[in-house]
This record gives sequence, structure tokens and C-alpha cells, in this order.
Amino acid sequence: MQNLLEFDAAGLTRFLADLGQKPFRARQLLRWIHRMGVADFAAMTDVAKDLRARLAEVACVQAPTVVRDTLSEDGTRKWLLDVGAGNAVETVFIPESGRGTLCISSQAGCALDCSFCATGKQGFNRNLSSAEIVGQLWWANHVLGAGNARKDTAERAISNVVMMGMGEPLANFDNVVTALGLMLDDHAYGLSRRRVTVSTSGIVPAMDRLRSTCPVALAVSLHAPNDALRDELVPINRKYPLADLMAACLRYLDNAPRDFITFEYVMLDGVNDADTQARELVRLVRGVPCKFNLIPFNPFSGTIYRRSGRERIRRFAEILMGEGIVTTTRRTRGDDVAAACGQLAGQVQDRTRRNGRAVIPLVETGR
Ligand code: SAH
Ligand code: SF4
Repeated sequence: MQNLLEFDAAGLTRFLADLGQKPFRARQLLRWIHRMGVADFAAMTDVAKDLRARLAEVACVQAPTVVRDTLSEDGTRKWLLDVGAGNAVETVFIPESGRGTLCISSQAGCALDCSFCATGKQGFNRNLSSAEIVGQLWWANHVLGAGNARKDTAERAISNVVMMGMGEPLANFDNVVTALGLMLDDHAYGLSRRRVTVSTSGIVPAMDRLRSTCPVALAVSLHAPNDALRDELVPINRKYPLADLMAACLRYLDNAPRDFITFEYVMLDGVNDADTQARELVRLVRGVPCKFNLIPFNPFSGTIYRRSGRERIRRFAEILMGEGIVTTTRRTRGDDVAAACGQLAGQVQDRTRRNGRAVIPLVETGR
């Protein structure tokens, strides 16, 4: 069975050509599957009957299985998705006034091992397929109101997508780009490039590839104002140090849908949150059009870090803003259901195995 969520427009056109079908059929199917959220070929009324019957034999529309669905007090909703072999990833929907953001995962685990990240501590399991990546959007769209993609962007439940869930999107480049293509495709989700954000820890050559193949809004996880500290917090920095990263950000802006880079900066008490470090940061990013998003550290069990205090974060932001850098502090959302940044699927590390098959415990182990 071929899962049709795997294909972008070009892939679906090729698949249908093998079945002797013309390219317009691909556009029809994209609309049914992604815009309308329909998985049942029989319901696709303007598709020729014999093709519907053939598709039912050889293909399916299959999003990852939801093993837990949690609603936070603030409206944040988190789905835990089974991606096989005991691996689970998470998708988080964050409603805000005027927009709804879906935070999507790109890998089960992550190999980059940032010292303050629960996903990193879990290690790398595998890359998600493009069907598993776009399947998160398909599923959320389906649950939050099937057919709502017919509405204008402003009326839809999901107006923005951020690749800020588990994993490093640029380390799973091809599958992520296929999924991004569907997010942008007018026949599928039709999101504007400015409303789709890839967050990266700074894999420089992949940033250049993204710039030329599929430029979308870019967030870069900076977290430190100098190489010595960043080497410790974000180990990929040893390979692509700050001077290279800043140069890559400038190149990206040449061909980006937005005219600034968003720098993410996790606020770690006594580690990277001093006034002197804020000033060093200002010097580092001089010449790179940017905004800062300060993320209060979200603790998880076993971590050595603590969240910076509110006053410290406010002061740090004030220094950046005093230098004319637009700075926001991320509100911690969904932390009562462990859906906040860096906490994702922290609790499923604790897998148990029965009959040789991994099963995900259905009890929350908390954090
Ligand atoms: N791998 C990508 C995207 C996923 S993480 C990246 O690193 O950019 C999304 C954001 O959450 C990143 O900025 C990441 O550094 C941050 N993050 C990770 N762990 C966190 C934690 N425990 N508390 C707060 N933010 C965290
Ligand atoms: Fe991976 Fe991002 Fe976590 Fe670093 S912060 S370990 S790159 S998911």
C-alpha cells in the first residue's frame, strides 16, 4: 500500500502517471487529501469511479497513530504519535488570538545533543518520513475542523507551522523539504512562506540548501554569545562556529521570504543570561537583521539547568531592545502537559518492552 501523504505534487503526479493518469488528477487528489482532509477515496466524488476503485486497492492516506491526546488549561493541545518500534513524537497546537500555530516534529529523537534539551538527551532514533511529517499537519487539520482549509488563511484553525518539535529539521533535509512543499502548495495547505518556519541549531550547508531549494522563514537557535559557551550548549557549533553561522544567516536573507532571522535564545540561570552576555550578543549579531525570541528554559528530570528569573529575563531583553533589536519573550505554553519547548516526548524515553515489541506506557511519568 502506498501512503499518498508521502508525495508532494511532483511525486503524486509520477505515481499517478504509473497508473496511466493525467497530471490534473494529482491536483484533484491533493485537494481532497490535504485541503479537505479526506482519507476515503470513495468520498472523492469528482475523481473517476474506476480510479477511486484502483486507488483503494493500491494506496491509502495514513497519518501516524495518535496514542495520547492532551489538552492543556491554556488551550494548547498535544498529540503523542506512534511512529513505530516504540518511537513516539509530538505535535503541539498553540491557539492564540488571530492565529493558530502547529509545532511539528521532524525526527524521533535528535543526534545533536544540545545540553539543555530533553529530545537531545534521548538520542537519535530515526528520521521521520515525509508522510509522517506532513501527516502531523494532516491530522491536526482533520481534528481541528475537516474541510477548514477551504477557508482563507485567517479563518483556519492552523495559520502557521513551525518546525520546532522534536528533532533537527535540516538533518532530515529531503523529507522535510517534501513536507514543506505540501504546506506551501496552493492545492494542499497553501500557507505562505512567511507563515512556515524552520528552526535549526545551525547546520550551515543545509541552511544554504534550504535557501536555494525552499526558502521559508528561518529561526536559528543561538543560545550563546560566543563560541566557548556555544560549543558547550549546542555541540554542532564545534563544526559550524558562530562566524560561519552569522555569514550563513546573511546569505539566507538574500533569498528569504522575511527580511530578518529569528534568533532563539534559551534563558539558563547563571549560564547565558548576564548583562555582559547580552552586550556580547549585540556585538555578535551586529549587521544581521534579526529579532530575538527569549525562551525561558523548560526543566525536565535529570537536567542540571534552571530557568532564569523573570526579572533577569526582563533585564536581558531590555539590553537587546535598548540596542534596537526587537525582542520577545516566549510565553511558556502547555507546560502543564509537558508540551513546552525541549520537553517533548521526554517521558517516553522510559519505554518498556513486552514480547519483544516496544510499547509506550500510557501513564505520564511527569517531569
Ligand atoms: N532542532 C531545532 C528545532 C527544535 S527545538 C533547533 O534546535 O532549533 C525548538 C527550540 O526549543 C530550539 O530553539 C531549542 O533550542 C529550544 N529548546 C530545546 N530544549 C529546550 C528547553 N528545555 N527549554 C526551552 N527551550 C528549549
Ligand atoms: Fe536537537 Fe534542537 Fe534539541 Fe538541539 S535543541 S538536541 S538540535 S532538537
